[in-house]
Amino acid sequence: MKLLEERIRQEGLILSDTVLKVDSFLNHQVDTQLALEIGKEFARIFAGETVTKVLTIEASGIQFAMATGIALNVPFIYAKKKKAVTLAEQVYTAPVHSFTRQETYQVSISRNYLGPQDKVLIVDDFLATGAALVGLVDIVKQSGAELVGVGCVIEKSFQEGRSLLEQKDVRVHSLARIASMAPGEVHFIEDESALSLVKEKV
Ligand code: 5GP
Repeated sequence: MKLLEERIRQEGLILSDTVLKVDSFLNHQVDTQLALEIGKEFARIFAGETVTKVLTIEASGIQFAMATGIALNVPFIYAKKKKAVTLAEQVYTAPVHSFTRQETYQVSISRNYLGPQDKVLIVDDFLATGAALVGLVDIVKQSGAELVGVGCVIEKSFQEGRSLLEQKDVRVHSLARIASMAPGEVHFIEDESALSLVKEKV
């Protein structure tokens, strides 16, 4: 998605070879129009799949799951990282190790909102190690719902997340795929040169 790549080039802060900060427009302050465009793009990519629910994980996937849900005219659900006292009913749960916070937590969603009748599209902000998304895939499996695929806003293709998901036969679509980055420069995967760079690394 060109618009997204331009914003990453203009405003993304590359903190190291592996960490990209996009707090000015994606996951702290949110450009609402861009978030809506992202939702429309996911809806376009997965059109024809009759998605019934969009699933994400709190907090930074929520705005994109909501935008996608609006575009598909279906509800979205976000997995909670801490079991709230209000979540008294039975839950599906899976462990997730956080790349940014270096801790493992149990994510959960109520069994009331997902079941075998559903076709689920998972949406998240980043695909890095894949831990968060593998946890959500596990939850969809527990529910008996059908997983249509995963939509990621930004994929760091030099990390193992995509291959972990593909090993589980999950269809993955990312709107911006970063082949490599270093302070001051970012290479997206549509460049032929960047593609070969990634292949060498994997
Ligand atoms: P995972 O490693 O499980 O694929 O990534 C889990 C979460 O960590 C993502 O949903 C995202 O919120 C956060 N994350 C991973 N890599 C980055 C990064 O480079 N920058 C930012 N801002 N968040 C990241």
